[in-house]
Amino acid sequence: MLCTTTREGMDCAFMSVTGCSFNGGTCHPAVEPCKGCDRTVNAGDMMYCQSYPDPAAKWRYGKCNFATHVKGETLNEVKLNPLKASKRAGRHR
Ligand code: SF4
Repeated sequence: MLCTTTREGMDCAFMSVTGCSFNGGTCHPAVEPCKGCDRTVNAGDMMYCQSYPDPAAKWRYGKCNFATHVKGETLNEVKLNPLKASKRAGRHR
């Protein structure tokens, strides 16, 4: 449904006939790490995310999983399942 408040005229999944259904009744501006992402949109002089209404929350515990400008995890960041790693190590004994 088209937003009638913060991002007026833009399609948004959180908009309803009774108004914005997101927590607080409005979406929040994009944050610094969002710069360069294809999902950002400008409304007035503010930048927002068209996919998620609270961008800061998407970056709170690491990289935003919707981001289009951030590549996948590097090898050092890939977390191994300790159980599988243990079994894998046991095969070579
Ligand atoms: S998808 Fe993620 S990185 Fe891109 S604008 Fe939205 S919150 Fe920011």
